[in-house]
Amino acid sequence: MPDKQIERIQILNSRPEGHGRYILYWMQQSLRSRHNHALEYAISCANRRGVALVVCFGLTTDFPGARLRHYHFLFEALVELEMELASRGIRLVVVEGSPPEVAIELGKEARLVVTDRGYLRIQREWRTKVAASLTCPLHQVEGDVVVPVESASTKEEYNAANLRKKITPLLERFLAPVPELKLETPSRELTLHLGAFAHSLHRPAELVSRENSLGIHPEPGPVTYYAGGTSAAERLFHEFLDTKLERYDEDRSDPSLNCVSRMSAYLHFGMISPVYLAREARASGLAGAGAYVEELVIRRELSMNYAFYNAHYDRYEGLPTWARTTLEEHRGDTRRAIYTENQLQNAETGDPYWNAAQRELLETGAMHGYMRMYWGKKILEWRPDPQEAFEIALRLNDTFQLDGRDPNGYTGVAWCFGKHDRPWPERDVFGKVRYMNAAGLERKFKIKDYAARWSG
Ligand SMILES: Cc1cc2nc3c(=O)[nH]c(=O)nc-3n(C[C@H](O)[C@H](O)[C@H](O)COP(=O)(O)OP(=O)(O)OC[C@H]3O[C@@H](n4cnc5c(N)ncnc54)[C@H](O)[C@@H]3O)c2cc1C
Repeated sequence: MPDKQIERIQILNSRPEGHGRYILYWMQQSLRSRHNHALEYAISCANRRGVALVVCFGLTTDFPGARLRHYHFLFEALVELEMELASRGIRLVVVEGSPPEVAIELGKEARLVVTDRGYLRIQREWRTKVAASLTCPLHQVEGDVVVPVESASTKEEYNAANLRKKITPLLERFLAPVPELKLETPSRELTLHLGAFAHSLHRPAELVSRENSLGIHPEPGPVTYYAGGTSAAERLFHEFLDTKLERYDEDRSDPSLNCVSRMSAYLHFGMISPVYLAREARASGLAGAGAYVEELVIRRELSMNYAFYNAHYDRYEGLPTWARTTLEEHRGDTRRAIYTENQLQNAETGDPYWNAAQRELLETGAMHGYMRMYWGKKILEWRPDPQEAFEIALRLNDTFQLDGRDPNGYTGVAWCFGKHDRPWPERDVFGKVRYMNAAGLERKFKIKDYAARWSG
């Protein structure tokens, strides 16, 4: 890793280095073998000490909110990851069990454990637990944002404009490439002691074939629109560079044109690096590159800032006071329509554009970005209680979106309820929270084409 990016590394405990046989990379977020800061750092640690590197992934089959749709995508990626790491001489161990417990068990024979970083509460709790339980050091390496969250800002930012001012001067430094190192002591044949997890070892290919018997919540099931893994992500992204990026700035908002990269699920699972995406977009020299980097870096990393600095990032309480006050004042306003959560889930509202967006989500595991805003605003409009509307929107988002359960999802839903936005002229139901309506969609886009595409 370039020295100038030392802020990517954090030492999470103060244990002395062990005498173990290997370096362990506990890979729990950045599920890729390319452009992975934590992996390259772990290889350099192994080479410097003349020992092997083992990579482990702890598989919990009841990650909060995760369903078969998400696990299938994950398992496909693990199959590719195992092969790619093997081609670099590295053994990937996939162990079913609580991820921190798996890391602690394999960490018993490690000199040093390296891990990657996640901003969700559960991801942070896992790392805190491992740091406290290991008898060797735990180093955390940030590779799933361009600018590590504390380097970008030391506080919760009010909006994108404030964060942009802070991130822009740091971009060049943190967009340096991630040089690929060769592991000098291969670990493919290393015997591992798994203790209580001895019978919980899985080959990724087996996971795909046995996914229905692992006790995973089966609904919603897998989608065929997106295949998991870095190669699938890179293929989609190159198609985007070749056919869409040039027009991204003008056309990205129109749901009928689908002029977007569809990278969010891959970013969510760490199957693709944001540094790689931003570098490739900029290197293309195409007109849309600046707008793309704005979404990928500023908007996305504003979400990480929110998740990191606001303990209520996934709750109604995380909304700004002005937004909660105005929504409370309008709680009693008459709604033109009210739909149950089931009607919403099944795309059974009286709004053909909203139903189309929900059908796109049910079928493909994703929804066009502009429609996500409209979708969330309408849920607020169609439920009598704004807090309940917030919770329904999050539940539907996290259950059906392949990229759900992500700082971006919590922030996106919160945005529909006023987060990172300003007060607007007051009106019924929404109060001072920004309002969206079908007439706006009809005025700006070929929205009837979109509705026809997802007519059911
Ligand atoms: C109600 C609502 C719910 C959302 N839920 C999620 C979610 O669960 N997971 C998720 O990853 N994103 C979520 N978003 C943010 C955004 O809509 C998606 O990231 C984007 O539509 C993904 O499509 P894409 O990769 O084709 O985007 P592109 O337009 O190609 O953008 C490239 C990348 O930039 C980032 N990005 C784009 N738009 C935004 C944005 N508004 N905020 C933050 N980052 C952005 C994403 O990482 C995206 O992959 C939500 C937005 C709203 C309003």
